[in-house]
Amino acid sequence: MTDPLLFDIAEVLIASDRLQERVGELARAIDRDYAALRPVLVGVLRGSVYFLVDLSRQLRIPHEIDFMAIAAYGTRHATTGAVRLLKDLEDEVTDRHVLLVEDIIDTGLTASYLVRLLRARRPASLAICTLLDKRTRRIAEDLPIRYVGFEIPDRFVVGYGLDFRQLYRNLPFVGVLREEVFND
Ligand code: 5GP
Repeated sequence: MTDPLLFDIAEVLIASDRLQERVGELARAIDRDYAALRPVLVGVLRGSVYFLVDLSRQLRIPHEIDFMAIAAYGTRHATTGAVRLLKDLEDEVTDRHVLLVEDIIDTGLTASYLVRLLRARRPASLAICTLLDKRTRRIAEDLPIRYVGFEIPDRFVVGYGLDFRQLYRNLPFVGVLREEVFND
């Protein structure tokens, strides 16, 4: 059956095969860099869940997963970086090797908040793995971004975990919404 949400997509930016292939490449790099370190992959609900689970499945090294949930104040047009913590990690990360797994880094203000929050807990190391990077939009400097899946242009994308009004997360590719849907 065709997904009715497909009609709302103007363009596929990153096809499903390419996503899975790249997730595999990232997993190999993490396997190498974190062998024997038993890292904790920290996902941010809800967007990064799809990416984190695929990444975890492709890793061969022992690792743990944990989640945080946040709510951003402001809208997608005006990210303020002011973030409220809705759900904290289940486990302590002091002296652990923490890999923050993000779906997308745009201005970087959200990631900057999370980095500050996690650093205060004194992890052994802290790095970021983001699937998508809108580098041209960056405001926050000095983020410890170690792995990037794809650099993308400044366009609003959905799919593979990314939503618009809580829909489209389940699309297997990353795509751009039709203007009419976005401006509705
Ligand atoms: P920041 O600007 O703080 O780096 O990103 C804030 C949040 O805005 C991201 O975590 C993500 O939830 C959302 N965001 C930024 N760009 C996009 C996009 O192109 N599509 C979707 N669905 N969300 C985005």
